[in-house]
Amino acid sequence: MMNAGDIENGMTWRQRAARLQPRTQIFIDGAFRPARDGRTFVTHDPATGKVIAEVARGGAEDIDAAVVSARRAFASGRWSDVTPRERRETLLALADLIDEHSVELALLESIDGGKLISQTTTEDVPGTAAIFRWYAEALDKMYGEVAPTGGDDLAIVTREPLGVVGAVIPWNYPLEMAAWKLAPALAAGNSVVLKPAEETPLSALRLAELAAQAGVPDGVLNVVPGLGVEAGQALGLHHDVDCVTFTGSTAVGRMFLEYAGQSNMKQIWLECGGKSANLLFDDVADLDRAIEYAARGIFSLSGQVCSANSRLLVQRSIYDRVVDGVVAKARSLRVGDPLDENTEMGPLVSNQQLQRVSRFVEAGEQQATLVAGGRRPADLGDECSGGSFLEPTVFSDVAAHATIAVEEIFGPVLAIMPFETEEEAVRLANASEYGLAASVWTDNIHRARRVSRRLSAGTVSVNTVDALDVTVPFGGVRQSGFGRDLSLHALDKFTSLKTTWFAAES
Ligand code: NAP
Ligand code: MG
Repeated sequence: MMNAGDIENGMTWRQRAARLQPRTQIFIDGAFRPARDGRTFVTHDPATGKVIAEVARGGAEDIDAAVVSARRAFASGRWSDVTPRERRETLLALADLIDEHSVELALLESIDGGKLISQTTTEDVPGTAAIFRWYAEALDKMYGEVAPTGGDDLAIVTREPLGVVGAVIPWNYPLEMAAWKLAPALAAGNSVVLKPAEETPLSALRLAELAAQAGVPDGVLNVVPGLGVEAGQALGLHHDVDCVTFTGSTAVGRMFLEYAGQSNMKQIWLECGGKSANLLFDDVADLDRAIEYAARGIFSLSGQVCSANSRLLVQRSIYDRVVDGVVAKARSLRVGDPLDENTEMGPLVSNQQLQRVSRFVEAGEQQATLVAGGRRPADLGDECSGGSFLEPTVFSDVAAHATIAVEEIFGPVLAIMPFETEEEAVRLANASEYGLAASVWTDNIHRARRVSRRLSAGTVSVNTVDALDVTVPFGGVRQSGFGRDLSLHALDKFTSLKTTWFAAES
């Protein structure tokens, strides 16, 4: 198994990746096992197109076994009923183990999802450890309430874990999405069954193993890789799951609401898609910085970010300059092997995703002006010749109703549109069924305040893009979903409030 010492011995990241021995089985009750019916599916490296591993394909029976194990662990009280301080120590130990195995985890994350090694080593893996650490540190500092009943009555309000939490996550941030769900759910004392995305099951399986090593009791964390329509659906429909926390598309989020209605009315929390607008006003002095961030807001992780700033709304007087600047930035990005530290944009997560995004590019060519990209990059080199790559792509003069202005593309495709007035900018930005995030660039503080208040979004970034941190809640309005990840507010999803009323002597 790989360790940090390997970094120094002169191997390339690809050579290191070849030595990985990924865990590929279902993790239930503290042990790896194959699927009940023995079936498997393959996971690919989207940069090369090559198969990495065959992974156990969890089905309804495996989900049931995981839920039974989670329920048993919950009822035992070995996690749910220990002191907060004990859970804190265990989650801190997990954070330390994540740091200790950071090279291995970063590599797994990079090969399975095509993510830049320069980012998985510096952001995804340290970020995952930081999230576990943050909730670990928080959980023994939370107090309950005493209600102002008056008299000798005493009513206390306490937070209790829900029981068994199902977590279903996408492929864009496999480790961090897992941590966003697992850290607060486990901190609160729940047991969890996690279904990672089909494209990226590997890092979550290793994480489960590290959690067991840190001392998370058997059954408290189970990971069942598999397909959405099989394992995901079985989790959504299970009668002994108390809550499902989901991140993914709006279409699948809607299904989870139905699953809950068809089964046990489990609580559902949804972080779904977005079509986030970036509003750029002509009073911005540092326009180069705004342009740089506009490009970063759509091209980082090849645009496969739920809060990607996929619509750029630019005030008319600076429109041409901004379009030229963003185009120059798009053309200059180094696209290629995510395991090359100099690469600035890697592949899309799969060939299927590339096909989907390419269809949007074709639609865009009918409705708007293609000013950059749109094709497969040349000169990807031998290693990446079979990868799912697309050039950073920019369309200008996009009409508000155009397909690429309305639908979530989830790829490196930017739609730029002009506006004249603040009023029009806000109207265009809000003309979406989504409401996840938005950005506003202005040097006028009054405008910043006015516009950010009027935008329908869970997060508004002012003079930056995609502001995000474990200390602030993240989630959407409208069809971007409901419920919040991160911050102390995430604990609201994984706890229920109990009122206990002690009557005064009569
Ligand atoms: P997805 O297709 O909705 O999949 C998300 C998860 O749901 C995966 O684990 C998937 O399993 C599972 N799933 C698929 N079909 C299912 C079904 N019928 N029943 C139960 N589970 C099912 O989304 P994705 O393509 O992985 O990710 C892209 C989407 O996620 C985008 O729309 C993006 O905006 C959204 N996203 C949102 C956020 C946020 O915080 N708001 C963050 C990241 C991504 P499979 O892997 O087997 O399909
Ligand atoms: Mg993969």
